[in-house]
Amino acid sequence: MYPPDCVRHVNLPGHVESPQRIEAIVQKLDALHLLKDYVVPEPASRRQIESVHAASYVDLVEGFGEGFLDPDTAIHPETYGFARLAAGGALAAALACAEAGRPALALVRPPGHHAGPDHGGGFCYFNNVAIAAKALLQRLPRVAILDFDAHHGNGTEEIFTASRDVLYVSTHQYGIYPGTGAAESVGEGRGAGFTVNVPFPARIGDASFDLAFREVVEPIVRQFLPEAILVSLGGDAHYKDPLTHLSLSSKGYAALAEQTLALAKSVAHGRVAFVLEGGYHLPALAEVVAATYALFRGESIHLQFKEGRDSVEKGKAVVERVKAVQGEYWDL
Ligand SMILES: [Zn+2]
Repeated sequence: MYPPDCVRHVNLPGHVESPQRIEAIVQKLDALHLLKDYVVPEPASRRQIESVHAASYVDLVEGFGEGFLDPDTAIHPETYGFARLAAGGALAAALACAEAGRPALALVRPPGHHAGPDHGGGFCYFNNVAIAAKALLQRLPRVAILDFDAHHGNGTEEIFTASRDVLYVSTHQYGIYPGTGAAESVGEGRGAGFTVNVPFPARIGDASFDLAFREVVEPIVRQFLPEAILVSLGGDAHYKDPLTHLSLSSKGYAALAEQTLALAKSVAHGRVAFVLEGGYHLPALAEVVAATYALFRGESIHLQFKEGRDSVEKGKAVVERVKAVQGEYWDL
């Protein structure tokens, strides 16, 4: 799913969340002959957006005019339309993967995972992946969201914090924006245990992410038994990224994608949709998305950014802590 109009969204001129992000990905896919068939999605409807956002907040975005949701998130009269289009792309990818039992990719912006029930922020207006999850829940009983963006998806967590039918799992750098996502944050009420946070310190890369996937993500997803998996694919955990200090290489990202695809095949009838979130080093972002997309067909691409730099011991301590916290809810 790729709405070409999503390059028309400009947060502010010179902002890191720029139209060039999508252009770089599209050029890379095109150069690798991977951009053969794409579907241009419809914008999400008001009703679909209100499945996760308060009507008053949707009104606010629609009628805001010129201004700022937060100092990094400018809003203009046309933003509402672009945000609906991004949500529509995520929705269409989710529904396509559910129907076909095959992976799908939503190349969309603005991103969404910081947008909560009644707020935007962090370059996000509407929560694309959450809106897609809600649509899937109309036909499937359980959906897992894996968030590999370097930032914690506070919006997604808030939306589903009390929910047992959506499992939210996030790996992120802890202590940077938005400041949430501690290991002890496990969801509320009947949703306790259905939020799983893996809060890594800086300089954590391939080996630690692999450890987290094998010892936390995969066992919990297998026990949760989702009927579909959605991935918040942020390229900003890459060691080239200028905004964060995690150290995933393109190889590490490809490994995560491969593990996720295999897991989806094993437990979720092959239903998995990857939805673009952040990622601000253009060549690295393009490489990560292209490597992920090539894996849909079992292919691999030549990788430029593969020098993994990691501190496994640091990652191990966090993974052990998460296992101790989540052990109350899952067999780990
Ligand atoms: Zn991010």
